[in-house]
Amino acid sequence: MGYELAAAFAAAGHTVLLVSGPTALDVPDRVDFLPVETAAEMYAAVARHLRRMDLAVFAAAVADYTPAVVPLQKIKKSGAGMTLQLVRTPDILGSARVALAFTGTLVGFAAETENLEVNARAKLTGKQCDLVIANDVSQPGSGFDCDHNEVLLVYQEHTTALPPATKHELAHRLVGEILELHATRHSP
Ligand code: C5P
Repeated sequence: MGYELAAAFAAAGHTVLLVSGPTALDVPDRVDFLPVETAAEMYAAVARHLRRMDLAVFAAAVADYTPAVVPLQKIKKSGAGMTLQLVRTPDILGSARVALAFTGTLVGFAAETENLEVNARAKLTGKQCDLVIANDVSQPGSGFDCDHNEVLLVYQEHTTALPPATKHELAHRLVGEILELHATRHSP
């Protein structure tokens, strides 16, 4: 979804920086690309570039936890089970407003398996977003690892459901919605 949005913003004539973890997707035309591998690297890239952006869309499914220690050597088996210690990754979107002092239009995503609107609205408020695009990832054929998606747009004042579409079609619709929101936010 992030790649389709980057392509749609670029096609609409905007300058786009795409910060992405590893994927098998081709980088869209006319998009500046900054590859990263870990959540910490993504945080550093966002911290470096966010302030000069007018608008930011956080579509990456960032891991919430990472191994506390990454051994240099292969872990040898020992015993019947194994416990890995995990630590929290930085919440990049959650850092945008305060730690990174971003004042532009802020759009997040929410992938939920239940209580879609309530959970998305909690993210909208908690992470001080202008819009959260929520999708129900428990639905087969929609969301992760496929070309289709069906989303709910959770704004501060209202919620709008969009009909199911390909990610490509949806990205163009979302760019329209996001630019309209951006214009409203900046009108006197
Ligand atoms: O809280 P949750 O992870 O469900 O929120 C999803 C939103 O937060 C997405 O926009 C995702 O890109 C962003 N996120 C982030 N850093 C994390 C985890 C999620 O920016 N460590």
